[in-house]
Amino acid sequence: MEPLRASDSRESAPAPYRVGVMLPLPLDQAYDYAVTGGNCAPGAYVVVPFGKRDVVGVVWDSGDGALPDSRLKPIESRLDLPPMTESLRRLVAWTAAYTVSPVGSVLRMALSVPSAFDPPRTVVTYVATAATAAAARTEPVRRTPAREAVLALLADGRARTAAEIARATGSGAGVIKGLAAHGLVETVIATGEPEFPSPDWQRPRALLSAPQREAADRLVERVDRRAFSVTLLDGVTGSGKTEVYFEAIAAALAAGCQVLVLVPEIALTAQWLDRFAMRFGARPVGWHSDLSTTQRRAIWRSVATGHAPVVVGARSALFLPFPDLGLVVVDEEHDHSFKQEDGVIYNARDAAIMRARFEGCPAVLVSATPALETVENVYRGRYDRLALPERHAGATLPAIAVVDMRKETLARQSWISPPLRDAVAAALGAGEQAMLFLNRRGYAPLTLCRGCGHRLQCPNCTAWLVEHRLQRRLQCHHCGYHAPIPDHCPRCDAPDSFVPCGPGVERLNEEALATFPGARIAVMASDTLHGPAAAAALVGAVQAREIDVLIGTQVVAKGHHFPWLTVVGVIDADLGIAGGDLRAAERTYQLLHQVAGRAGRADRPGRVFLQTYDPDQSVMRALVSGERDRFIMAELAERRRCAMPPFGRLAAIIVGGPDEAAVEAAAAAFARTAPRDAAIEVLGPARPPLAVLRGRHRRRLLVKTDRATNLPAILRAWIDRVRVKGSVRVQVDVDPYSFV
Ligand code: ADP
Ligand code: ZN
Repeated sequence: MEPLRASDSRESAPAPYRVGVMLPLPLDQAYDYAVTGGNCAPGAYVVVPFGKRDVVGVVWDSGDGALPDSRLKPIESRLDLPPMTESLRRLVAWTAAYTVSPVGSVLRMALSVPSAFDPPRTVVTYVATAATAAAARTEPVRRTPAREAVLALLADGRARTAAEIARATGSGAGVIKGLAAHGLVETVIATGEPEFPSPDWQRPRALLSAPQREAADRLVERVDRRAFSVTLLDGVTGSGKTEVYFEAIAAALAAGCQVLVLVPEIALTAQWLDRFAMRFGARPVGWHSDLSTTQRRAIWRSVATGHAPVVVGARSALFLPFPDLGLVVVDEEHDHSFKQEDGVIYNARDAAIMRARFEGCPAVLVSATPALETVENVYRGRYDRLALPERHAGATLPAIAVVDMRKETLARQSWISPPLRDAVAAALGAGEQAMLFLNRRGYAPLTLCRGCGHRLQCPNCTAWLVEHRLQRRLQCHHCGYHAPIPDHCPRCDAPDSFVPCGPGVERLNEEALATFPGARIAVMASDTLHGPAAAAALVGAVQAREIDVLIGTQVVAKGHHFPWLTVVGVIDADLGIAGGDLRAAERTYQLLHQVAGRAGRADRPGRVFLQTYDPDQSVMRALVSGERDRFIMAELAERRRCAMPPFGRLAAIIVGGPDEAAVEAAAAAFARTAPRDAAIEVLGPARPPLAVLRGRHRRRLLVKTDRATNLPAILRAWIDRVRVKGSVRVQVDVDPYSFV
């Protein structure tokens, strides 16, 4: 037997006991370790030997006893951090079960900041000594301007690092050391954890309108009750939904709880952050992929110790270690970016509701175009609904009209119709702004050879390469492959023969520059914005009216408030419907509604132009008539008829790998072993549109059941039955949003 390490030297060492430790590795079960002394209750973060390395894991249970005592290894150490709460552990377990993923893979998302487990760092800081003032008068210290500047900075009594002092005064270490030698400054060892300012809920709130007040009061009631509930805050664009849920945040802070706000795209929330700061006097903590390791560590630890009262973030913020969550808000709850499409495939909106449930706190879903699933949950009485039917301060909803492109005459290689052109020109003439929306990045979606029609395809994916003229290259939007435009056609060898087909935002920009001479035009797309700061700068420029026409992809639709924007043109309103998947109509409606909602948000009325070849399509009709609920009812009726979600359940099994034959064989094995049950329908295996992605061949099966069936459990048992070759990877996508 390996000796169990004694944790202290008291005479009667406590008897060792066993714990099950879950590791952040793609494994489903916890591993048993021995603990001697100390408190190692479930939730404790521990370092344990695993194979040849040490791994940080979480004590999960009291062990399964599979390993005899004699082979049990002791844990290396227990980390000095508040334990992972039971509610977060339940969320990890629930997410794993629901998405058919190993528990350890989900745990890994909750331990995504390895540096958070390093011991607290200490830093050397400098403060002015109490003797400073007197000493300065009496001692013969040479008072250089550099020394004066440092003393002036430190006069407020705050400790600062040498780097901070250098940044503020330009004085280096030599100056500080000189002052220290004279006893004017002393060193203090401090922990290097930055502190986040606390939002102040007591600051004066906005004067809410009667409907806003009513909705806010109901949300506050729920926060005060400290029990699980789900409320849909359903308000038209510009109705002040944000102001309303700020009151719920204030109530949670007043109760001493933490708040999590999930947003679809943290990089685009500059205006939201400013509004938050105006209401609460401090910015909330932002959690996103653009943070440095140091920032991530600081935030993770502050959340864990309860020092970060409000966190706003994208999906992954859901797995942060809040000890005392009092409110979860999901803004733009219908947004598809809440669905994580790789690794553990989960929907953060749904997981957020589960987190609120395990925490015993309210969840608030916010949208002007709620997801059909959410609407159905309201009908069933599982969620409450609060409505804000009007725009704030008398602003009216924009007038939406279709432009029937079958009847318009456009010049070759142009996409802005005469009615849209005239409306934009008129707006610019009146000193207002316009937005042109086209959900296509780059210059042209297709590039082909004029001589032989050869199209340029990605070598790694079943996808055409897209020309990005600003970067002077062709790009694959699936794998990031890029290459220069060839000067000879690889098939017919014709020189300079490649021509762009169709428009992307860059090409639309060219047309707009020619059509609206003198106008200040900017393009906003995910690949032209480099990070949150660039996005904030562009949004700020539009707000300050330094931009007249904003051209963009779906990133322009997200939540921006531009009071001077009065005309919105949708260049190709049919674009999203073409795919024809389950949610194509719903998704297109939501997106176009949100784009349209950017127009006329203040005292100038807005106009929206939808360029379409199919004006009778139900999405166009619903947008023009404003009959959202009728559209939703019709879509729900159709889903019910086909027993599709939310009335039935769907899951996809995606088999992928570098060897096509092995992938085919694995897909066939899934088909062969499919559960035989009248309630379960299996479609496929099929070759998906993206038959090759990043050099891996793919096949898909779609599984459909009624609502009563426990689909994840069936999938798990099924996957356990199928043996696949080592190179083949099987992904499960429960409630799929993507069908490629
Ligand atoms: P939504 O999120 O519903 O689209 P917002 O919360 O962004 O609407 O509100 C639209 C605009 O109206 C924002 O500029 C917001 O500051 C302003 N607003 C909304 N309600 C109020 C209020 N009660 N007092 C002052 N301004 C408000
Ligand atoms: Zn590719």
